[in-house]
Amino acid sequence: MQFQSSPEPIPGASLFLSVGERRVPVILVRNLRARRYVLRLRHDGIARVTIPRGGSFAAGRAFAGRHASWLARQLRRLDEQPRQPALWQLGAELLFRGEVVRLEAGSNGSAGTVQVGTECVSISDPSADLRPAIEKHLRRIAERELPPRVTELAALHQLSIRRVSVRNQKSRWGSCSRRGTISLNWRLIQTPAFVQDYIILHELMHLRQMNHSPRFWREVETACPEYRTAELWLKQHSDLLRG
Ligand SMILES: [Zn+2]
Repeated sequence: MQFQSSPEPIPGASLFLSVGERRVPVILVRNLRARRYVLRLRHDGIARVTIPRGGSFAAGRAFAGRHASWLARQLRRLDEQPRQPALWQLGAELLFRGEVVRLEAGSNGSAGTVQVGTECVSISDPSADLRPAIEKHLRRIAERELPPRVTELAALHQLSIRRVSVRNQKSRWGSCSRRGTISLNWRLIQTPAFVQDYIILHELMHLRQMNHSPRFWREVETACPEYRTAELWLKQHSDLLRG
């Protein structure tokens, strides 16, 4: 368990706590009315530390670090919580490749299709929740597009991978096993291409460094100079993972 700060911190986006294999974003908030340090895990998976009057950011960080096992338990609970997805109906907006798209009735005049940006999705009942059909469609796109990109970037960086799997994960964008299996969240297809590339490169760089040490981050920065912007984008859209 350790903290990492980016060399040039983005305000509010630079702090992460390693909890097991996860990197949990941490926000430190000063509250003059607070009497003690308080750690909370938000529903979007961001940890929030309240710093009381007279407290310091350093002590706030240390406080979160001391409660990492509590955070790990809360993260597990969050994972196990049944998702209560918002209903997706015509007119609803969602992210696809980093752009907000509105769900429109199919332009080909057929009642059984919904237009999602450039994608035309077949559905059986246009008045029902469109989410299952659309998620399935987006997941298929992710399964088609993400693994070849991993192969491409791995080759570029002369890394060998065993397998790429595209999965439905509620609390992480990707992971990398010691044996060289890269797992990616299908929801990456909802993020812009540079964010997809960052997550893929992040996981690939774990083949060189199985940790989040400064050396690991130097590898990430060399492979993906815009990684901080990508981290910030992900932080600002962390509700994507929660659905
Ligand atoms: Zn990592």
